[in-house]
Amino acid sequence: MIFNPTVLFINVSDPTRIPDNLAAQCCPTVQWVGYFGEVLGRRGASVSTDRIPLNLEHPFPLAQAISEFLMQKHEVPGHALLITDKDKDVIDAGLCHVRVVFVGTSYTQDDLPDAWCSTMQALTTWQAHQFLGELRSGDLDSTGGLLVLGLHPSNYDAAATLWGTGRYFAKNDPRSEVHLFTKRLLSLKNWQQGPVDNALIRIMRASVAIMEHDTSHFTMMTSIPPKRGSPDRLGALLRQSFPDDKRVNPALIRIAKPIEKQSRLGRTARRDNVKDAYVPTSASLADHNILVVDDVVTSGATLSEVAIQLAQRGASVACLALGVDQHLVPDSKLQLPCLCGTCDGHMIVRLSRTTFRPFWGCTNWHQGCRETLDYVSGLNAYYQLQPHFRIMKDWDLPF
Ligand SMILES: [Zn+2]
Repeated sequence: MIFNPTVLFINVSDPTRIPDNLAAQCCPTVQWVGYFGEVLGRRGASVSTDRIPLNLEHPFPLAQAISEFLMQKHEVPGHALLITDKDKDVIDAGLCHVRVVFVGTSYTQDDLPDAWCSTMQALTTWQAHQFLGELRSGDLDSTGGLLVLGLHPSNYDAAATLWGTGRYFAKNDPRSEVHLFTKRLLSLKNWQQGPVDNALIRIMRASVAIMEHDTSHFTMMTSIPPKRGSPDRLGALLRQSFPDDKRVNPALIRIAKPIEKQSRLGRTARRDNVKDAYVPTSASLADHNILVVDDVVTSGATLSEVAIQLAQRGASVACLALGVDQHLVPDSKLQLPCLCGTCDGHMIVRLSRTTFRPFWGCTNWHQGCRETLDYVSGLNAYYQLQPHFRIMKDWDLPF
């Protein structure tokens, strides 16, 4: 187990499938268990069990209920674990900062859980858990991690399936400092020459093996090219992961126009920025099955553009992102226009570098627009664009 929780929250559709000895078996340090659905009897004499009501009119009912419960019990989110079989709960867990284990065989969100196991019974045998590769990458003898198949970031519209190997927290998110896989990806960004992190090589090899087992053999493996003047880190990772493998071809894609740093741009701008920026160096790629690797996927614009270019030359394509950026409003395709009245940017959720609290800021910050909104006012404005959602000021979550 990654950590020893004192509070366990359980939200599953069929509580009869929860093993009786769950808390004792998998989380011996637990003192409180909170259920959101039905509680079936008292589970474990030494553990106090509560049924927690949900306010379903709240936009994030679970996050609100968990926050309130933890406050009542004078417990902190870092000591709590949520076990759920509902995709959407993973987002709520992120909002109230508790760890989350997802139980189930398929998963459709871009926000990823801390750990994942396929059946409820497997919860009591932690060894059977499919911890994400990011967590396993702490163990140097690990054979690799779990792959997440079929991610759908906002700007990813290529026909190629997108896979991810773990989460990535941006530098201004406090989790980046304790999250090992994020640290590994950040050190890859600083790589200049020499051997690449062995854990990333192992994850790479295991991922490709699983992808080929699941789909078909790759005839070519390539990566997103570096910006002019930067070392080809992803190319080095591919070459070192598959030495002497003729299928590795980092030069397959070249940059055809200057690209601005994506992290400074909003969703629409990201797509425009990479449009026609990547060109395959080979005119025909018919009959090829190509793997494209990138380090972090955020909006999906870059990988999508490259996959479309390769497909137009006749190739079938699969994309692999090492890290999946865990941003705060994951499924947002709406644009909250900048409120300053003169700027063409839009407001997106950012994290304060000093307080780590989220707020809304204009995407034209680097061009000088300093328009900001506090988190709740921004959510209110955001949900006004989407009338079936509603949020009230007194429903703020204690970030
Ligand atoms: Zn602005």
